[in-house]
Amino acid sequence: MSLLDRLFSKEIQRRTGAHAIHIYIEDEKNARKRSRSLGSIALNEASKHTRITTKQEKISFLRRLDIRFPWLKLAAVLVIGIIAILNLCDVTVPRANDPFDKIKIAPMAHHVRVTERILTGKKLVALTFDDGPSNLTTPRLLDVLHEKDVHATFFMLGYMARANTDIVKRAKKEGHIIASHTMYHKNLPTLSYDGIKNEVNEANSILKNATGQNPALIRPPYGNINDNVRKIANTPLILWSVDTRDWESKNPQSIVSVAMSQVHDGAIILMHDIYSTSVDAIPNLVDTLRKNGYEFVTVPELAKIRGVNLTKGNIYYNFRP
Ligand SMILES: [Zn+2]
Repeated sequence: MSLLDRLFSKEIQRRTGAHAIHIYIEDEKNARKRSRSLGSIALNEASKHTRITTKQEKISFLRRLDIRFPWLKLAAVLVIGIIAILNLCDVTVPRANDPFDKIKIAPMAHHVRVTERILTGKKLVALTFDDGPSNLTTPRLLDVLHEKDVHATFFMLGYMARANTDIVKRAKKEGHIIASHTMYHKNLPTLSYDGIKNEVNEANSILKNATGQNPALIRPPYGNINDNVRKIANTPLILWSVDTRDWESKNPQSIVSVAMSQVHDGAIILMHDIYSTSVDAIPNLVDTLRKNGYEFVTVPELAKIRGVNLTKGNIYYNFRP
């Protein structure tokens, strides 16, 4: 813009009260020559020979920035590009000294990362099912959980898993956690060191055959634990904070009301998938918990979200905030 053009725009701006003026000069060279000869007094004269359009517009903050720092746009594009590339590469900082990282599998790690983001600060609960899988009841439970979009944690018995490998595989495929409830549901503290070892290891190898990996969690039968159990279990020991006593009542309504009377944020709810009445209770239980603001997570997710590093041989009852 020449000095005269600038004078033009200033003057017009003053007269019209516009925030910004765009001047389009048809024959710029000509107009400039004329303007020069006319001098600064010839504002009105010069405007006769040039077509001046004014446009009233409010200059936005971004536009002002763009005018002042023309390189800013390029810099922003570069920064956004770099962030996008880093995201595509999924660059994450590895966390040191996280024993849980060593036992969990990669897909689950990703799942945990996603849910962690969404569920932080919400009321959480983990449904757990012991003593299965049973070909009479567990497939129906998996149907219900799928329909309700709930992931649970299954503490499976080795001999039941051996007889129902397809159900173990299906449960894993549908996003549930496959954990161990030992081989034959013996009361571990009454066994010898080697006896406990057999109960744990046999179940581990059956579950590993079915899922391709060792179970990352164990729940000792009856919740009974001694020092040998803690030593032999190469995983965290997961107990519960809400006992529905579903095996006793065998009544869906009672299961729901017992669970609702004891539930708390971070609860681990104990149920058994070998009773059809327990499966019957699930739709109502899930709906009622959701109505009360609870979200469903697996046990490893719950621990992770609550910032607990699951450690082998340690006992966990719940993950309160
Ligand atoms: Zn049991």
